[in-house]
Amino acid sequence: MENLWNDADAAADLSDLGLRVYTSRLLGRDPALVLHGGGNTSVKIRQPDLFGQDEDILYVKGSGRDLDSIDASGFAPARIAPLLRLATLPKLSDTRMANELRGALTDASAPSPSVEAILHALIPHKYVDHTHADAVLTVTHTADGAERIREIYGDDVAVLPYVMPGFLLARQVYEALPALDIERTSGIVLLNHGIFSFGATARESYDRMIALVSRAEDYLKQRAAWSLPSLPKRAAVVDMATLRQDISALAGAPMILTLDDGELAQTFTGQDDLARIAGQGCATPDHVIRTKRLPLVGDDLTAYAEAYRDYFTAHQDRATVPLTMLDPAPRVVLDAAFGMIAVGRSARAADIAADLYRHTMEIILRAEQLGGYTALAAEDYFDVEYWELEQAKLRGAKTPPFAGEIALVTGAASGIGRACAESLLARGAAVVALDLNPAVERLLKRPDFLGIRCDVTDEAQLAAALEATVKRFGGLDMLVLNAGIFPKSAKIAALASDQWRKVMNINLDANLALLREAHPLLKRAPRGGRVVIIGSKNVPAPGAGAAAYSASKAALTQLARVAAFEWGSDHIRINVVHPNAVFDTGIWTDDVLAARAASYGMTVEQYKTNNVLGVEVTSRDVAELVAEMCGQLFDKITGAQVPIDGGNDRVI
Ligand code: ZN
Repeated sequence: MENLWNDADAAADLSDLGLRVYTSRLLGRDPALVLHGGGNTSVKIRQPDLFGQDEDILYVKGSGRDLDSIDASGFAPARIAPLLRLATLPKLSDTRMANELRGALTDASAPSPSVEAILHALIPHKYVDHTHADAVLTVTHTADGAERIREIYGDDVAVLPYVMPGFLLARQVYEALPALDIERTSGIVLLNHGIFSFGATARESYDRMIALVSRAEDYLKQRAAWSLPSLPKRAAVVDMATLRQDISALAGAPMILTLDDGELAQTFTGQDDLARIAGQGCATPDHVIRTKRLPLVGDDLTAYAEAYRDYFTAHQDRATVPLTMLDPAPRVVLDAAFGMIAVGRSARAADIAADLYRHTMEIILRAEQLGGYTALAAEDYFDVEYWELEQAKLRGAKTPPFAGEIALVTGAASGIGRACAESLLARGAAVVALDLNPAVERLLKRPDFLGIRCDVTDEAQLAAALEATVKRFGGLDMLVLNAGIFPKSAKIAALASDQWRKVMNINLDANLALLREAHPLLKRAPRGGRVVIIGSKNVPAPGAGAAAYSASKAALTQLARVAAFEWGSDHIRINVVHPNAVFDTGIWTDDVLAARAASYGMTVEQYKTNNVLGVEVTSRDVAELVAEMCGQLFDKITGAQVPIDGGNDRVI
């Protein structure tokens, strides 16, 4: 484990809080220490209150903040005295505790303090660091984990058995403290949960964390339990779209599935006793909300859901209030045929589940080499999964209309295509953007966006793009056919055959191929597939000099009308928009626009709004219509054509 401390970087802010931010980020940077909001840190600072009286304040990580990106405003300043008083209560619900923690803040606009704030307050050292280090979790998730921890650390750390995080854990530490020589130890190992280190300075506490975790890593190395076993890679073959359809039905909402067929996933899923090693529980209950306690091993979803319902029924009486059962769908699927598939309500949620489970796989493989992976009892996972604080989140949860759904847009690097991608993203869809322009790959950097350079006239490239879509997000719900060209004006008497064929090839043939290849995926869309085609005003109102363009868009429209008939029984809707005079796209530079306006004897403004309503139609207007056509408003409409042109006298 590398110590990332650097004097020059640390010197940027040498205040107590500045150094707290610095080493928190160092911890956050190493996924073998903390993942996705895991871990927490604090510093105790004495400062004068409004009346000039000194008071001790705990600056503790705000709940839900990520250590790798935290800044000073991510720390919640809480008065230590009331926190210590809370620890003397024999009992306190976590909801009430969260309320009391907020009440102890000196700044009402600060984030809510971490649920471990009381524990941080109890430890007398100035700096306290807490991580869920993989190496420590590996050692503690074995049958004789506690003895092994003693063997590794001797008296350098205190060791506490697993209890539920939150007030119970604070209370456990409060009761244990008098018997611990806490001033002389450099940390506490919480079995099956993680590790605390502390010190007088930010550096001391950080150095100790790295040193302590390194000792667990060394222990694993000495016992040949560090290097992961490896198996040869196999090709991933699975109909993920079908699996997604089934999982979404079980979850009661569309879900994103993301495939990991990398070496670790292949190795893990290739283990002979996969069902046994994966069937005990994930590495630490902290992950349970994202990954569920158990993955689905193989493909028997019905049995998985039944077992999940049994688990809920068996443990629901542990809570004093009636619990809402979470959906019984798995969040991780393991199958030797393809690797690991992670599941989530959004691409981000699926990615987090994948990240967390990759660490669980490593921990299990190493612990197996150390003598056998042993997880906590099911009830310990249940308590965290059905924690009152998590149940409260369910009540406030709001999801965007296309959450868990996947849209593919062609010609998406600019203009109407790009605007469509943005409108779909804004409604919660994951978006795959295709374009001939390689810039599409770097268009947006976010987990729910995948840009693919693709020549839509090349069927092999189209097939590869659809495969990449399914591997990344699990399937396809919406398809926006936008890519097309508008060739130079040519009268029929002078229209070259190869020019005609080129336009037909891009505007028509490519769309036929994509519709055909996407059909089996759209058919498996949990809420039914939707296709929107970007037609043109030229379909109802053609003009001289645009024979190839108008004919290609008219043929495409006719293709959509036939598809509406053929695909209705597959619950796929297909509709067409006919935009006109959308000038905020790449081809309409200011010069071209000015020249065209002048040729009609108009100002640019007059030219742009030359329609019945006298309004300018933008890419965004078209995109919003396209997105709405994929939504509930158009649920019972297929085969329709909607002009979006401000009213055109030849169309009306
Ligand atoms: Zn923790």
